[in-house]
Amino acid sequence: MSAPLIDPFARAITYLRVSVTDRCDFRCVYCMSENMTFLPKKELLTLEELDRMCSSFVRLGVRKLRITGGEPLVRRGIMTFFDAMTRHLESGALEELTLTTNGSQLEKYAADLAAAGVRRVNVSLDTLDDDKFARVTRWGRLPQVMRGIDAAQAAGLRVKINAVALKGFNESELPALTEWCAARDMDLTWIEVMPMGDLGNEDRLGQYWSLREVRDRYAQHYTVSDLAERSGGPARYVRLEETGQKIGFITPLSHNFCESCNRVRLTCTGELYMCLGQEDMADLRAPLRASPDSDAPLEDAIRAAIGRKPKGHDFDYSRQRADGQMPRHMSHTGG
Ligand code: SAM
Ligand code: SF4
Repeated sequence: MSAPLIDPFARAITYLRVSVTDRCDFRCVYCMSENMTFLPKKELLTLEELDRMCSSFVRLGVRKLRITGGEPLVRRGIMTFFDAMTRHLESGALEELTLTTNGSQLEKYAADLAAAGVRRVNVSLDTLDDDKFARVTRWGRLPQVMRGIDAAQAAGLRVKINAVALKGFNESELPALTEWCAARDMDLTWIEVMPMGDLGNEDRLGQYWSLREVRDRYAQHYTVSDLAERSGGPARYVRLEETGQKIGFITPLSHNFCESCNRVRLTCTGELYMCLGQEDMADLRAPLRASPDSDAPLEDAIRAAIGRKPKGHDFDYSRQRADGQMPRHMSHTGG
């Protein structure tokens, strides 16, 4: 067994988010422009390379894999990859295999995902209104996603809803979304919109709605208790006493979770980002492709990269685009 991955600030790296494609069947306004240029196929890690990458991280102590994108379920043959990861769940090396999805393909894949050992999925959904859904996702259609959520629950997957908080867009839907989730026994997490990619150039629907305000809005409708629980990630949780529901808040812009950060992100081209808010990355595809018969050079490159994981990140709205804005799209880094 290899020594676990510990960064310079004594944080154990146990969580890897993997983007398996930069493509998507939606064009959410805060995430992509309408005319996206996607990467040539040869740039992407093959399904086999994704297996080698993830297996190396698992050997080095990663206990949780979250698959994302782009839309992970539009990657051709993606179930082959999920099925390949099942062996790590069965051996006990991997604790959790999960994904973040827009839900469009869940009707097709929910049962297969459950069979592969996936227990939970995060589904991104900002509104329960058909027209608003079509506007915010541009290409998405709500009934298809609803059928996907039904299929996921029918397959026994636990569903969590992630909603991007957009002032003037889904602000008025807070009680309805919350009650809908409660009725279906789904947790709900609000995400603060991040200054990624083209955001700001886009003809935006709604705008920055701080999670402080979202929390205040909850306090107008419910009795809200803070929960101490943390996931090693940027989420904070409250409980609504009336419904017993747990509501999460992801504030990627605040710095206060960096000290407990246990995660790194791998892009679909094999770049490892040690921190979502910083540009430094390590190319893991080169050592992987240079050494088809041994993962040792890859593992060395992973260790060297973790050795450069910074203490914290550097988003700041007050600095605006000049230096606070990240030029990367979430669909590339894997949100
Ligand atoms: N396509 C999948 C989905 O939508 O769930 C997975 C990838 S998507 C990039 C992951 C998450 O990032 C989604 O919940 C999405 O709402 C969120 N996201 C995308 N752009 C964002 C932005 N600018 N600010 C905050 N969250 C964003
Ligand atoms: Fe696609 Fe997800 Fe980005 Fe929406 S947020 S465009 S569904 S990758």
